[in-house]
Amino acid sequence: MMTDHDDLPTRSCVPAGHVQSKFQPRSQSQPQPAQSPILRSQSHSTSRTLARRVVAALIIMMFAGSAVLLGCLAAYAWYRRALADCVEWGNTYRLMDEHVAALSEQATGISVQASRSGVVDRGAVRRLDGTVAQAAQQRRRAGILVRSAVDVPSACRAKQSPLMLRTRVNAYRDAALTLKPWVEKLHRAQRPVAARVLAHDRQAVDEAAARIRAALPGVRGLARETTGLRDTHAGYALRVAIDDAQSALDGVNTSYGTLIDVEQRMFAAADAAVRARNAERGIDCGRTACVALTFDDGPRADISRRVVQSLRDKGDRATFFAVGGAIDDAAIPVLRDDTRYGMPVGSHTMSHTDLPAIMQAGTERQEFDDAAARISEATGRPVNLLRPPHGAADEASRRYLADHLGVGIALYDVDSYDWAAGASARSVQWKVTAQARPGSIILMHDIHEHTAAALPHILDALHAKGYRMVTIDELTGQYPRPGYVYYSRDNIIPW
Ligand SMILES: [Zn+2]
Repeated sequence: MMTDHDDLPTRSCVPAGHVQSKFQPRSQSQPQPAQSPILRSQSHSTSRTLARRVVAALIIMMFAGSAVLLGCLAAYAWYRRALADCVEWGNTYRLMDEHVAALSEQATGISVQASRSGVVDRGAVRRLDGTVAQAAQQRRRAGILVRSAVDVPSACRAKQSPLMLRTRVNAYRDAALTLKPWVEKLHRAQRPVAARVLAHDRQAVDEAAARIRAALPGVRGLARETTGLRDTHAGYALRVAIDDAQSALDGVNTSYGTLIDVEQRMFAAADAAVRARNAERGIDCGRTACVALTFDDGPRADISRRVVQSLRDKGDRATFFAVGGAIDDAAIPVLRDDTRYGMPVGSHTMSHTDLPAIMQAGTERQEFDDAAARISEATGRPVNLLRPPHGAADEASRRYLADHLGVGIALYDVDSYDWAAGASARSVQWKVTAQARPGSIILMHDIHEHTAAALPHILDALHAKGYRMVTIDELTGQYPRPGYVYYSRDNIIPW
């Protein structure tokens, strides 16, 4: 039962004066001595109550405001992540689809040659044909998955709702992951047939030899860096694999199958050496949170030097992608320092041109080979990774980089937008810390003042979240493989 007193405020949350006034109403007509001590005390009590209420209201408003602000920031971070994921997985699907189509075409050609020659076991050819047919079926399935969510050609645009972007991310990711195993399945089915059919095919042997020759300087560079490894077996196995590869190249009558075999063993040994070096440095990005910060478009001596110094001050490392044409006398010592402090320098082409445009113009030699040579000359280390300007890559450019330059393609899953108009140190810091997740590769540029200013704060914020800042090969635990595309530790497109 409710009593008259049940709805009264309790003493704990209402000041005593307030309760008293409710129980002992004062007659308004009664003359009141203005300076009475009792009234003075009541008046003070009322002002205290009012002040407390104002303070309480302000605190509530502050909390509500903070909650709304945090909510907005979280929603914005979610939106940014959705947009970045949409671009990443849309491109992953496209590159994977192009590559499965190209591998299938190559496999069909080998199958036709095998059927004509009659030197190959018919079972192996039938298995290859079956794999090609299944791969085609998977491409159709992946296409249906994508078309069910995406009805316009440019599917990932700013100002789309995060929910719509998420639907597209899921469709692209499912389609890309459907195709991913088929790269290896096609290679596996093709290998035994190709080894017989192409055993002494001059063109195929020359191409395989050129591929190994292009990758060897980088792998030799790794062998030099890992000479003093405590895991002596990993270092020894790598040197043996390199010697085997060189002997195969020097051999007069080396077959196609032997070249493919030594190539595979060389990369497996290089991966083992990277993992052994990681273990020695106490890095295991499979168990602890790591991110790879990357800096493009440099070197710009003053800014690049500050970026490297900030990284060194915090005991962190990053990967740099230099524009060949930007290397001048002032920048050479900076690039040499990067490598001296264990920070690899990859290529960002000679003139910052999109990869598909380079392939169309036929300027591969200047843009890829000459840039890599200039960077390598400045740093004293071979180049084994390339960052495509504007993130644009296609099957033709991947093929050139894999077959002629022996480099992998480093993309990213987090864009700091430090290149955008109106970017500031604060906006860069916010975008990086909001989007970074374990295994991320983060895009920044060592040519902007605001990026250099933001970096110490970014490093502090990421350290506070438990991240370790590492190079790309430390992040993946893998030697950069020619033709592979690295978006993040969890999204690597095989070649
Ligand atoms: Zn760039």
